[in-house]
Amino acid sequence: MTDLTSMTIAEAKAGLANKSFTSLELTDAHLAAIEAARSLNAFVLETPDQARAMARAVDARIAKGEGGPLAGIPLGIKDLFATKDVRTTACSKILGNFVPPYESTVTSQLWRDGAVMLGKLNNDEFAMGSSNETSCFGPVVNPWRREGSNTTLVPGGSSGGSASAVAALLCMGATATDTGGSIRQPAAFTATVGVKPTYGRCSRWGIVAFASSLDQAGPIARTTRDAAILMRSMAGHDPKDTTSVDRDVPDYEAAIGKSVKGLKIGIPKEYRLDGMPVEIEKLWTEGAAWLKAAGAELVEVSLPHTKYALPAYYIVAPAEASSNLARYDGVRYGLRVPGRSIGELYESTRAEGFGDEVRRRVMIGTYVLSAGYYDAYYLRAQKVRTLIKKDFEDCFAKGVSAILTPATPSAAFGVGEKGGADPVEMYLNDIFTVTVNMAGLPGIAVPAGKDAQGLPLGLQLIGRPFDEETLFSLGEVLEQAAGRFTPPKWW
Ligand code: GLN
Repeated sequence: MTDLTSMTIAEAKAGLANKSFTSLELTDAHLAAIEAARSLNAFVLETPDQARAMARAVDARIAKGEGGPLAGIPLGIKDLFATKDVRTTACSKILGNFVPPYESTVTSQLWRDGAVMLGKLNNDEFAMGSSNETSCFGPVVNPWRREGSNTTLVPGGSSGGSASAVAALLCMGATATDTGGSIRQPAAFTATVGVKPTYGRCSRWGIVAFASSLDQAGPIARTTRDAAILMRSMAGHDPKDTTSVDRDVPDYEAAIGKSVKGLKIGIPKEYRLDGMPVEIEKLWTEGAAWLKAAGAELVEVSLPHTKYALPAYYIVAPAEASSNLARYDGVRYGLRVPGRSIGELYESTRAEGFGDEVRRRVMIGTYVLSAGYYDAYYLRAQKVRTLIKKDFEDCFAKGVSAILTPATPSAAFGVGEKGGADPVEMYLNDIFTVTVNMAGLPGIAVPAGKDAQGLPLGLQLIGRPFDEETLFSLGEVLEQAAGRFTPPKWW
């Protein structure tokens, strides 16, 4: 039997359908891989009993010919998704041992379609970060290393556990969330495929809120096709989330292999940064050439407000976070540090429960929303956001179908290497990704090459609203040209 953990979801679906192996065997192989990879710290909770029970149940359904589109496929779930009767912490001390009495809509749809839950994946605390170093469970380790070096590298964040687990063959795919880049940046750092869908495409119900107008759930997988398969199950209208959009969910997999001939692809000149590593510049040129060879037409476009995106994001996102995180007060759920008064209880609980980065965001957010500063910061940032959105609209109005950019300004860096003295150094990681959240657009990160030290690099494609299909078609072209990348196993 082939190694059950190195298959793609598409291959595993075929193997399960023709009875080459059972979901229980597939699940057991992944549970063993997770156990052998605890040093990566990708999982914060393993749920082997639940996984085996789900696998057995789905095997019975498959035998009766009733398996769904993800029947028997073992997945990892970011710890931001509420999972019924299974601890959900957002990797924050403040949620303590919170066990939700309900299931998030996205995960419930995965189980409806037959997927198997292996456990909960590590992430930056409340999804705030770009390196997965702010988790209360400690940093996640990237399975990739620089050639000839033992330096521990970050997998990116905030969905670092998802990216690391998928890259290290611990699960066949994972859920993730993206507020400013948290699906695409870790995907780029680990040679996995990450999709941030259009705002409203996936329900946010049951996902721990960070910045509600920016948050979107999406998949991390090993191939573009696998990401498309997962997306179909994750997406869809949900009356419980008023921002989720009532539109049919297309068969995203059908977009894989579809011709991209004649599509106009924009190359935004403002994304050419001073001091950008030559390898990234080269990767970008190469990606454009691959799309051209497949029949696409490359055109230079301008997104003039790009330079304001990061500063505006770091006003809007903390503002919404400060309001969303007000609910963690030690009264309703999670950690409670007693005090002599209710005020003292709130204060001590929040002081003890939140980590440094979360506290920083709450303080920035409260500041920009406070009387006297609201107009100068928050309102202004919202206006800038409208301009950023308009840049993209102007571009699409000229017939551009998608925009090609690098996914990140660098390859994975070392644990502790960035942001220690200056948090902005960490924030700069999202320079190419935050615009997409600010505009509510879909984006995909696809592995496209390696740097001189052997670390993976990714390209990003940004699409029109609700046109994830074109991103899948273009992503597949890049994947076919670049090939796939798997880290050598050392753990
Ligand atoms: N790195 C960004 C932040 O810390 C984005 C995080 C995310 O997308 N969840 O805000």
